[in-house]
Amino acid sequence: MVNFFQSIDAVEIFDVAPRDGLQPEPDFIPTSEKIKLIELIADAGCKKIEIASFTHPKWIPQMRDAKAVCNGITRREGVVYNALVPNLRGLELAMECGLDEVVTILSTSESHNKKNLNMSIDDSLREIEKINSVAGKNGVRVRSYIATVFGCPMEGNISREKAIELAMALEGFGSYEISLGDTTGMANPASAHTIPKTIKGKLSKAGLAVHFHKYHGLEFANNFAALQAGITRFDCAVGGLGGCPYAPGAKGNTQTEILVEMFSRMGISTGINLERIYAAGKYGQSLSTLLTQACH
Ligand code: MG
Repeated sequence: MVNFFQSIDAVEIFDVAPRDGLQPEPDFIPTSEKIKLIELIADAGCKKIEIASFTHPKWIPQMRDAKAVCNGITRREGVVYNALVPNLRGLELAMECGLDEVVTILSTSESHNKKNLNMSIDDSLREIEKINSVAGKNGVRVRSYIATVFGCPMEGNISREKAIELAMALEGFGSYEISLGDTTGMANPASAHTIPKTIKGKLSKAGLAVHFHKYHGLEFANNFAALQAGITRFDCAVGGLGGCPYAPGAKGNTQTEILVEMFSRMGISTGINLERIYAAGKYGQSLSTLLTQACH
């Protein structure tokens, strides 16, 4: 039985809209519009923003302007900008742009990992270990996503042991934070509570975040359930942007402005200005064609 209610005063919001949110958009979004979205999110007071992906343009053409985006934004004091890197080459490119944080990803599901990254989970682990090693030597922090933690559209329920095993490995590689991804909105408030709670209890150094995707509002119950498990770091995207091109039926990310409003109404500080984050969300939605399809 889940035992509510834990009192928490403040949480951290990690907005992933400029990368995770825009990545699956079918029409190329001009660099200047991506930059404007990042600036609006920062204007609202968000201190952590995922801004680009240094994946080969053949795989993710939407992110082919990653370098221009990184070099085009106004870096603000106290704001962490990071980018997804699938391999060492991606890390090099991110470092050339002066980013001091990168993100890696792998799945608990062998099928999803193969489809998303074109390699086995073991091969992903080996690549991520190398990324962590080089990043560490260069003073770059690594944040690690684990995808399909709450279910996989191809394999269904995944053993929780797999998520624990991967989280421990990633912590061992030196990642400062691990984010548990509900890649296709399959979590429920019970799993959204127990899985993060179990993994948090096993980690000794790395912080733990949750990354829920939309399912007709259930995502807010899931975020709340994770909060009650003592999680204080939340991934979300303004406008509810996103999806996953390699996961059938994948829906957008938790909508930042609604999550911030939920915390605000609860008296939990996010450091984010509500009016401004709504403005950022509105702008983000105006860039999307995906949201207008039957995908949310
Ligand atoms: Mg996402």
